[in-house]
Amino acid sequence: MNILLFGPPGAGKGTQSAFLVERHGMKHISTGDLFRVAIKNNTPLGQEAKNYMDKGKLVPDSVTINMVAEVLQSLKGASFVLDGFPRNVAQGEALEALLDRVNLNLDKAIFIEVPINELTERLSGRRVCRNCGAVYHIATKPLKNGKNCDSCGGTDIYQRDDDKPESIVTRLNVYADFTKPLKEYYRKKNKLVEVDGREDVEKVFSRLERSLES
Ligand code: ADP
Ligand code: AMP
Repeated sequence: MNILLFGPPGAGKGTQSAFLVERHGMKHISTGDLFRVAIKNNTPLGQEAKNYMDKGKLVPDSVTINMVAEVLQSLKGASFVLDGFPRNVAQGEALEALLDRVNLNLDKAIFIEVPINELTERLSGRRVCRNCGAVYHIATKPLKNGKNCDSCGGTDIYQRDDDKPESIVTRLNVYADFTKPLKEYYRKKNKLVEVDGREDVEKVFSRLERSLES
């Protein structure tokens, strides 16, 4: 099954994708993660993306779509979970064309809903492992030993620049203006599934699993 997860920043897309990878071996395609790796490696793509990401703005469509096209071409039959792409209707249309080109189908577009006040708390408390990208939260998912990444043992656990207050406001506005309209886009295509993203991560995952079965 090929799916995408969308919703506001902090809804839990990355967290739930990690469960899907573990449980179903799906290939996780996160455009945010791909940009962060490019920034870490100081590639031309990373240098371009950084200017937009630090401000909480969307990286231009042409850059983002070309990057996703490359990944989709290299899937070799693995089912995928797209996380953070598409983020506007133009990207949704581009995704359809890209999938057609490689003879793949999107089964469901899963919208994870979380109220705004909870999002700010999730985003400002988020921490990420610089080495492997594992996601933590200072209150709800702290490091088990307080120092090392639970997944890879890394010690560089950082706060994303775009999780600081000024960027959070911009990202929530960008979401409302550009990403939320994708709900209507996928509803019209009969692919929209809505999942309540409140409550603990296991509970949300069981809702997500049920929505995949229906
Ligand atoms: P997204 O990928 O949608 O931006 P993340 O998966 O990175 O969101 O989650 C954002 C933050 O919220 C992280 O710190 C994560 O640990 C936390 N989080 C994710 N899901 C939940 C949940 N169901 N309840 C509480 N906190 C959560
Ligand atoms: P994320 O990790 O999904 O929260 O994304 C972090 C940032 O990466 C976003 O705020 C954007 O600047 C950029 N980004 C990620 N995905 C996209 C996308 N599909 N289109 C444009 N920019 C994106």
